Amino acid sequence: MSVINVTRSSMPDFEEFCEEIRDLWDSRWLTNMGAKHQAFEAALRDYLQSPQVALFTNGHLALEALIDAFGLKGEIITTPFTFASTTHAIVRRGCTPVFCDIDPESCTLDPGKLEALITERTCAILPVHVYGRLCAVEELAALAEKYRLTLIYDAAHAFGVRKNGVSSACFGDAAMFSFHATKVFHSIEGGAVCTASQELYDRLYALKNFGIEGPEDVPFVGGNAKLNEFCAAMGLCNLRHLPEEIGKRKRVFERYLERLSGVPGIRLLPPQKGVEPNYAYFPVFFDGYRYTRDRIHAMLGEKGIVARKYFYPLTNSFACYAGRPGFDPAATPVAAYMAGRVLTLPMYADLALEDVDRICDIILS
Ligand SMILES: *Cc1c(COP(=O)(O)O)cnc(C)c1O
Repeated sequence: MSVINVTRSSMPDFEEFCEEIRDLWDSRWLTNMGAKHQAFEAALRDYLQSPQVALFTNGHLALEALIDAFGLKGEIITTPFTFASTTHAIVRRGCTPVFCDIDPESCTLDPGKLEALITERTCAILPVHVYGRLCAVEELAALAEKYRLTLIYDAAHAFGVRKNGVSSACFGDAAMFSFHATKVFHSIEGGAVCTASQELYDRLYALKNFGIEGPEDVPFVGGNAKLNEFCAAMGLCNLRHLPEEIGKRKRVFERYLERLSGVPGIRLLPPQKGVEPNYAYFPVFFDGYRYTRDRIHAMLGEKGIVARKYFYPLTNSFACYAGRPGFDPAATPVAAYMAGRVLTLPMYADLALEDVDRICDIILS
């Protein structure tokens, strides 16, 4: 039985990667912000239209460093409909997540429910562009401004997404991207913070390198979160092929749409106005369908097809947070409803359309 995984990492040609890393055998400079790192940051500034791009060893540590760099203390309003990383980053940096419910059309933080959660302890808002679908960026910017809150986006899913020509990197005070192997764009492991602030860039630069500013100057308690030269080289190669990769994903996405839209009990998310998507995921919500989400998940699994309950469970129901005040999925009923019904189907550039048909046939059988 041929197995279809939920995702499959894009790779450049072997020769192209070898060519890209050849210099490293001469320079012997393998990490610590070398030539590949610098070239990768420059290429990303250009592609993401971001004045500053600070690379990290992964997206999670980029997010932790960002919370640290802004000096955030107190409550951060965020969404439970996300990957573990978002909530863990807040807690690990000593802040308290306050969970806001989501909008069912976008699966992102509902700005209409945010204001009621703001207290004198609130310091920031941390929404997530789920499945590459953009948050209500204008409304969130207005609320952040009105209450003088820092606005940080978890843009791990939204690489390459644009709204009316504006890059997802440009919303908020800063945006975090993940370049993990499973993402639309990757550098094996990797991540970045995009911001317009040179000061924030400089602070992040020190924080990812033990807080060191100069050979005899260590003004910050930093960690180690540097992206190495091999990962930067993989990122440079993959970035060259990204438009083609997104184009291939679009074909897969459209085939799923063709097969699954209009089926009673199967809910798909509507396209967003003015948004140029990256086709990162294909989420399907089984809502009153003749099989439950869990049944479909099992049926696909029996046929060697790996779909993912993503995001399930909600982060506010994780075992590690059991008993903590404020961690209650019942307080975010829309998120709980969506999490109980969602399945993301296999989605990657090289997924054959015949395989998409096979997956849809099983779901519709
Ligand atoms: C992947 C992901 C992260 C973490 O990124 P890593 O690079 O794997 O550390 C954070 N948030 C979301 C929403 C993600 O999907």
